[in-house]
Amino acid sequence: MPIFRPRRKRTGPEVRLGSTPTAITRRCLDAALACAQSALPNEFGAVLRADPPGLISEILLLPGTTAGKRHANFHLYMLPVDLGVSGTVHSHPSGALHPSEADRKLFRSWGRRHIILGAPYGPGQWRAYDGNADEVSLEVYGAGSTRDPIAATYRPALHRAPPPVDVPLDDEA
Ligand code: ZN
Repeated sequence: MPIFRPRRKRTGPEVRLGSTPTAITRRCLDAALACAQSALPNEFGAVLRADPPGLISEILLLPGTTAGKRHANFHLYMLPVDLGVSGTVHSHPSGALHPSEADRKLFRSWGRRHIILGAPYGPGQWRAYDGNADEVSLEVYGAGSTRDPIAATYRPALHRAPPPVDVPLDDEA
């Protein structure tokens, strides 16, 4: 008689609880920087997701997250039940790359890796921190990497005008 076992939605036995991310994809970083840019003059805040484990590849916008000029409030109780969720990212319109006192409290309360983005949000204007608010390094996976399937498909939204279309005004034959 066959034995039926409940199947997990995500087939990934390699998913480990609490693995600390050591890298981030360039695309994810660029997407976060682009979000921070469009949130100006306000802060931008989101949650980091690592998939596969160890590689931060996604930012999740939490429902109810509010952002002002000096703060971003995380509603962490809105966090999805997801082993890949590993920390936070938020922006500093002031350009400061170090955590504020409030940031230190947030970092200590939850998460293993936190990223701060500083205006004007150039490619290198970010720093990563651990749960003690100590600066840590994160390897950046380039867009051309074949180890990163998300990089190949994910692109930050670009707002381009649609190509001009010639519409005949007088179409009566
Ligand atoms: Zn901050």
